[in-house]
Amino acid sequence: MPSLLDIAELVLPGVDPSLEHLEAIYPKRTLEAGAEVTRFAPSPTGFLHTGSLFTALIGYVLAKQSKGVFIFRVEDTDTKRTIKGSDVELLEQLIKFGIVPDEGWFPEGDKGNYGPYRQSLRADIYKRAVKHLLIEGKAYVDFATPEDLLKIKEAQEASKVLPGYYGVYARDRNLPLDEVERRVKNGESYVIRYKSMGDHNLKTSFDDLIRGHIELQDNDMDIVILKRDGLPTYHFAHVVDDHLMGTTIVNRGEEWIPSTPVHLQLFRDMGWEAPRYAHLPVIMKLDHGNKRKLSKRKDPEASVGYFQEMGYPPEAVKVYLMSVANSNFEEWSIENQSLDLSKFTFSFGKMSLDGALFDIDKLNYFSREVLSQMKGLPLVEEIKDWAKTYSPSLLEKIERDPAYFSKAIDIEKERSNPRKDYAKFSDIEASVAFFYDDEFAKMKAKGLPFDGKYDRAFIKDFLLDLSKNMDYGPDEGAWWNSVKEVAGKHGFCLVNKEYKADPAAYKGNAADAAGILRVALTGSKNSPNLHEVIGILGHDRVVARLTLD
Ligand code: GLU
Repeated sequence: MPSLLDIAELVLPGVDPSLEHLEAIYPKRTLEAGAEVTRFAPSPTGFLHTGSLFTALIGYVLAKQSKGVFIFRVEDTDTKRTIKGSDVELLEQLIKFGIVPDEGWFPEGDKGNYGPYRQSLRADIYKRAVKHLLIEGKAYVDFATPEDLLKIKEAQEASKVLPGYYGVYARDRNLPLDEVERRVKNGESYVIRYKSMGDHNLKTSFDDLIRGHIELQDNDMDIVILKRDGLPTYHFAHVVDDHLMGTTIVNRGEEWIPSTPVHLQLFRDMGWEAPRYAHLPVIMKLDHGNKRKLSKRKDPEASVGYFQEMGYPPEAVKVYLMSVANSNFEEWSIENQSLDLSKFTFSFGKMSLDGALFDIDKLNYFSREVLSQMKGLPLVEEIKDWAKTYSPSLLEKIERDPAYFSKAIDIEKERSNPRKDYAKFSDIEASVAFFYDDEFAKMKAKGLPFDGKYDRAFIKDFLLDLSKNMDYGPDEGAWWNSVKEVAGKHGFCLVNKEYKADPAAYKGNAADAAGILRVALTGSKNSPNLHEVIGILGHDRVVARLTLD
């Protein structure tokens, strides 16, 4: 009768099963006390989801605030689902959001000493660990075909028992080793399964960093650990990787909670200490009053590409996601108006459990705040970068005169309570349109919204007078006095109390006069500070706009 060792050697010939040898290649990290090693481990199966960005951000922040290490690992063992180029795209998107891995897979080559950081290149490592389990009798060779599995499932359904490959239903779990040897030698196809010693009638538990003590049904499924293609499943791969890479916290989506018992069994049977787990809430959306998961199909905001397309600055999206992550963030943000995320301490304890709710209004709010603090050339450059891909007409305006564009978007930003006109780059063109003569001409062609109580001749006269006699200097007080002086000449009352006492005696009050000027200059009844607008438009453009045909 062959031994377990013989079988292990038969299926994984020449593979060194010594865990000591393996661990010698990946020695324990020497980091400061409290330093966390986290990782973002996407499967390269498409674009970056908002939920994945959220997960990556949390991992990154945990590593940064504890002076630890943040790893980017490509989990591509499901080769059928892998999409070519998705790995590069995912990494590039992370980096655009300033989430730069300390270690990991990069297209130009791995960074770090714990690689390869791409699971498909780690087959030899997993095989060593699998061989170790085979020798220990904690894994076995399983010849069940998909058809066999289906039959087992049908039998289980008929007798109303839990479906799956476990216990007495795990057909090949206790095959005599000589039969295993014969069938392997005969070239039968097989997988390697984990031999679970659990019992689904019992409970098991673990402490989640977000959810606290979680009690679950124990695992007794003999899950596949090595597939027919020689690659492991996620369950086994992450155990091996997170151990050898020295991960201290696995932060991942809550959909992995039910698999955690088997993961913990695998760690235990490998003789390794498990990392701490933090299962993040799924990002939900309010849809006609009901909460549901953000859907790739229905919700554009489920893809990070949406935020890029709309022109939300990456920093704003991160700030927003942090407000979703921690309930104390909003309060912090009021006292820390710079919204510098590196100064905020993230904590699992402040995380809400009942599904983080995606709220576009809140994103817009934070984005307005972030944008109100960005100014000058760096802002112009960022908008330009965006416009190159998403808005040729805005790009053309910027390139016409970058300095003029910069003044237009930075209007009223030097104040303690800066103006917050736009929440995203795609709002900017409309908000600065009036600064551009060609756009202003279009507004004029549609008709400027002057108050109907003034006739055209009166408006024309008043504006012409303003154009000639207004103070064009930098002093706002002097300018306003000059406007009032002209307004007074044209029958506007400059003292509100007097106006209120007898409105019929006047053309209007000073605000009415300014309203006419505002419409003539900006094409709208609402605009930024008129004195600043005049300063940006400059004397000649102002005179042209105040000269009606
Ligand atoms: N590849 C897994 C996923 O994309 C990673 C889960 C984990 O972080 O461990 O869901």
